[in-house]
Amino acid sequence: MGDIGNDPVVVIGLGRFGTALALELAERGTEVLAVDSRPKIVQSLSGKLTHIVTADATDIDALRDLGVAEFYRAVVAIGSDLEASILTTSLLVELEVDDIWAKAVSHQHARILERIGARHIVLPEHDMGERVAHLVSGRMLDYV
Ligand code: ATP
Repeated sequence: MGDIGNDPVVVIGLGRFGTALALELAERGTEVLAVDSRPKIVQSLSGKLTHIVTADATDIDALRDLGVAEFYRAVVAIGSDLEASILTTSLLVELEVDDIWAKAVSHQHARILERIGARHIVLPEHDMGERVAHLVSGRMLDYV
């Protein structure tokens, strides 16, 4: 395997967070498979992302059909729909995706995702608040 950081990535959930993430990865040359259950958002991004599909990520057969099990890395960027976030993450674990990143909207949500088997948890508001604190206090070098 070559540069693991440049392996293809599945991004599930194309809200503000997932969309920004998918576009930035694609911009940096990473192959992205983007998935959302809303056809409208998929349609609006189809010119910007090469591999983008409408699918319900809580459906294991849909994930299998998309070849998600072949990916090393996936990001669950579903936030406010806790049931969908938790179920999707557990299906990725079942499909043996190694490196699962999941977005959480609260510390309790984060704990559940971790227990299910997500390797990395992102709490966007909390994490960004910490980063901005470093910027505001002038500790620019910590902003990596
Ligand atoms: P953001 O803050 O990033 O805009 P959010 O935290 O409000 O998003 P949600 O709106 O819950 O997050 O979900 C983000 C995206 O995930 C939405 O575009 C939604 O359509 C998609 N999504 C929700 N459930 C599923 C699912 N089961 N399968 C695929 N995509 C889903």
